Amino acid sequence: MENKDWKIRFRWIKEHAGTWRNEIADQLAKEAAANTDTPTCYSRVPKSVVKSELEATSVEKWQSEWVKTTKGKIIKEYFPEVAGRLNNEIYITPNITTMLTGHGNINTYLYKFKIIDSPKCPCGHNDQTTDCILFECTLLSKEREPNLSSIKDGRLAHTQTHTYKKTLQGFHQIYKSDIF
Ligand SMILES: [Zn+2]
Repeated sequence: MENKDWKIRFRWIKEHAGTWRNEIADQLAKEAAANTDTPTCYSRVPKSVVKSELEATSVEKWQSEWVKTTKGKIIKEYFPEVAGRLNNEIYITPNITTMLTGHGNINTYLYKFKIIDSPKCPCGHNDQTTDCILFECTLLSKEREPNLSSIKDGRLAHTQTHTYKKTLQGFHQIYKSDIF
């Protein structure tokens, strides 16, 4: 339009106030929006759309890698969905990492590397694993309750943020206990 000597200025005007050119523009815009056959003549998209689409694609890719990998067996049980994990803010500490990966000051792990002579838990019932610490160990009953009472069927209800938070408090409680 500017090439044809139009002078274009943008300014705000009150809608539906009888400004007939505005009424016509409004009507044409509505018709165009409702017409799905209209060819696209403006293909630029806002940066925010590009950003969120890229994010969604990378989470999707991450998820398919996560499903395929044979690593992280224990942590996968707690966080099967990448998106679910990303939606929950978790303050990661070395103890949380140990608990969620099973790599650290846990007897089965130390035994695997021949650092100690037995994988047994000090309670004497089981080999000391993350699951045993979280769900079974009799030495940790006090620390386990009430923080971990929301765990159902021996697994974390990982879709619920409040349960997550409670569970993490539980991890901290357990790590403050004497057996570590
Ligand atoms: Zn035990």
